[in-house]
Amino acid sequence: MLTPLDLVAGLWLVASPTWGANPGFVSPLALAAPRDAYDASRPSDRPASLLELSDEELMTRIEADSGSLGSLSIGAPGSGILFNPVALEAGPRWDIARGADSWGTSETIAAIQTAVDTVHELFADTWSIVIGDISDRDGGRLKRHQTHQSGRDVDFGFYYKSGKGAWFAPGTAANMDLPRNWALVRALLTRTDVETILLDTQIQRLLYKHALSIGEDKDWLDRVFQFSRDSRDAVLRHVSGHRTHYHVRFYNAVAQELGRRVHPLLVELGIMNPPVFTVRHVVRPGQTLGHLATRYGTSTRTIMQANGLRTSQLLAGRTYRIPVRAAAPPTQPIVVPQRMLPPVTPEALAAVDWPTLQSLYTTSTER
Ligand SMILES: [Zn+2]
Repeated sequence: MLTPLDLVAGLWLVASPTWGANPGFVSPLALAAPRDAYDASRPSDRPASLLELSDEELMTRIEADSGSLGSLSIGAPGSGILFNPVALEAGPRWDIARGADSWGTSETIAAIQTAVDTVHELFADTWSIVIGDISDRDGGRLKRHQTHQSGRDVDFGFYYKSGKGAWFAPGTAANMDLPRNWALVRALLTRTDVETILLDTQIQRLLYKHALSIGEDKDWLDRVFQFSRDSRDAVLRHVSGHRTHYHVRFYNAVAQELGRRVHPLLVELGIMNPPVFTVRHVVRPGQTLGHLATRYGTSTRTIMQANGLRTSQLLAGRTYRIPVRAAAPPTQPIVVPQRMLPPVTPEALAAVDWPTLQSLYTTSTER
């Protein structure tokens, strides 16, 4: 078995790992029913104090009732998995897009609810918004998305003017309901721990102009919107393909940190496979598939598949990709950055009790 150090110290290029539940492992733990759908009376279905448990205590919990850990976001949005998923169920304030995969962490589901509720707090007569893909039930690769793998990415539709758009209609000045869209974005920025909102520059500009027109602070807008000043901290960032929806990624203070710590324990207990890394090997004269399989602790078949080989013939001097199961390199604890809050609240948005730095952070030890 290779250690993380071998992977980092060698001359190999280490690609991002892929993760997965162990398909050969059948255990009552792994088959435990997923947690119930989000319950509005229970905004966080487990205490942050879970983070205070030692590795031994976590191990005991996994063996006794892994469901009690709640949902875990393991790995990264572009290469990760979801454990103990929570379903976003259809509600009066949103519709789920047809065919969407709506599994996330409890923190992600709660953040969706918070943001959408804010729009309704400001505008009582708001029709439902459409929510698209979140993650697959177990996380991992989802359709053609590059991310959406760890229960923290959510595709939100736009609020359109009545009768002027449908799910995935490109947003324009003519069809977008700017007050409601801005309320949603402002709520994401200030009332949830949002990591990034991917949105086409054209839509960013519409929202920015609207926000400025109702009296939002210009310096704050210039920080949160990428298109205006290309701010390094910008949360709203342009990626092509996002003229039809918001792609929102949330930080999950508990699900990510617990996932980071619990994943190696799940691997140790055989509930989950170790992640697969791809290493590259330059073949020397005389080396055979059998040599490589032995050296990297894998099978000749796996190497042939990874390289699309039809025969076992290797060419000296050529580089081959070799999938290797190995412990994940140690990672740093997850730190959710402080939210960027605006210094003023425009008159038009005063009906909502927006958070302030004081309300969010001065009593942080009690949260
Ligand atoms: Zn997306």
